[in-house]
Amino acid sequence: MDDWQFGPAQELRRAFILDDTKLGPIHWYRPGKSAAVVMSVDDVFPGTSQSAYESGGDLERGAIGRLLWLLERHKQLQLTLFVTPDWRRIAPVANRLWRHVPWLRDRVYLTSLLAKGTMDLRNHPEFVAFLNAMPRTEIAIHGLHHINQGHSVSVEFQKQDRASCARMLKEAIRIFEESGLRHVRGLQPPGWDCDLALQQACRDVGIEWVASARDIQTPVSKDARTAMSGLSGVSMLFPERIAPNLLHISTNFQATSAPERAFDILDAGGILSIKAHISKNVPGHLHLDGVDELYMNYLDRLFDDIEQRYGDAIEWTTLNQLANPLSASSSTSSPEYPAAQPIADRAA
Ligand SMILES: [Zn+2]
Repeated sequence: MDDWQFGPAQELRRAFILDDTKLGPIHWYRPGKSAAVVMSVDDVFPGTSQSAYESGGDLERGAIGRLLWLLERHKQLQLTLFVTPDWRRIAPVANRLWRHVPWLRDRVYLTSLLAKGTMDLRNHPEFVAFLNAMPRTEIAIHGLHHINQGHSVSVEFQKQDRASCARMLKEAIRIFEESGLRHVRGLQPPGWDCDLALQQACRDVGIEWVASARDIQTPVSKDARTAMSGLSGVSMLFPERIAPNLLHISTNFQATSAPERAFDILDAGGILSIKAHISKNVPGHLHLDGVDELYMNYLDRLFDDIEQRYGDAIEWTTLNQLANPLSASSSTSSPEYPAAQPIADRAA
C-alpha cells in the first residue's frame, strides 16, 4: 500500500492541523478509496426566466431540474452549489459609458445592476426551501452581490482590504442565516480572485476552505500546480493548506475538457473537481460550462464510464466533506472519515 495514498493517520492529521507551519498539498483518502469526484455549480441565485436570466429560480423547471436529473441518474454524486446572497449583476461585461472615462471608471459600477434586495434570499423563501430540500447537495458562499467597481465587473473582493472583505463575508453569512438557507463554511470568490486580504478575512469570519483556482489546461500529474484563473501555484489535484486554518481545492475540469483528462486525474489519485455555471447565456457572455442539456448529458456519460472503470475506488464527495476533516474546527473523528474502518472496507 502506498503511504502517499492512505496516510497520514488520524493522529498525524490532528498534529498537522495544529501545526500552522505545515502548508502544502494533502494526500489522503479513506481506506479503499484511491481518488475522488466533486462537482460544484456557480452563480446560483433566485433569477427566473422572467428576469434578466434564469439562474436557478425556475426550480425544477429550469437549470436546477437538469442538476436533479443528473443526481437521480448517479446516486453517489453529490453537489456543491455556490449561492450569491443578494445577486445584483446583470451583465458580466462593462457596458456603461463611464468605462471610457479615466479615474472615474475605476470608482463606479460599469454594468447595469439590480436594485439591492431584488435577489436577496430573504425575499425568496420558496427558492430557499427548494435548495434546502435538494438531495446530496451542500450550499456554500459565492460573494455578497457578485459585483465590483471598475472593469473587472465580477471580481467582487478585488481591491478590498481585510476589514472590508470580512464585513462583506459577514453580511453574506447573515443573509444566509436569516433566510434559513443551510450552508457550509466554504467560499468560491466571484471572479476566482482570492488575494491575501480575502484569505485573512475568511479566517476572521470562520470560513474554512476556498475554491479559487481553476486550471483546465495544465497537463495532469500529482505535482501539477495551477496557472490559469484565480490562485496560481497551488495544487491542481489535491486539497492544499494555503494559510493557517484555510484549505484550498482547485477546479480542474469543465464542459470543454476531454474525458481523458478526468481519467488522468483519477489515475493520478487526484480529486476530479468539476465546475459548472448555473446559467448558460447571460447578457454579453456565454458560459461554456453552463448547465444545459448537452453538458449534463456529457457528465452523465462520463460518470457512467467512471463508475465502470473505477467502481468502489472512487470517493464521491463534496468540497466541504473533503475540507472538513482537515479543518481546524473539526473534531478528531468525523462521520465521513471515521478513524477506524471495518476490515471489509480496507480489503476493497
Ligand atoms: Zn460567479
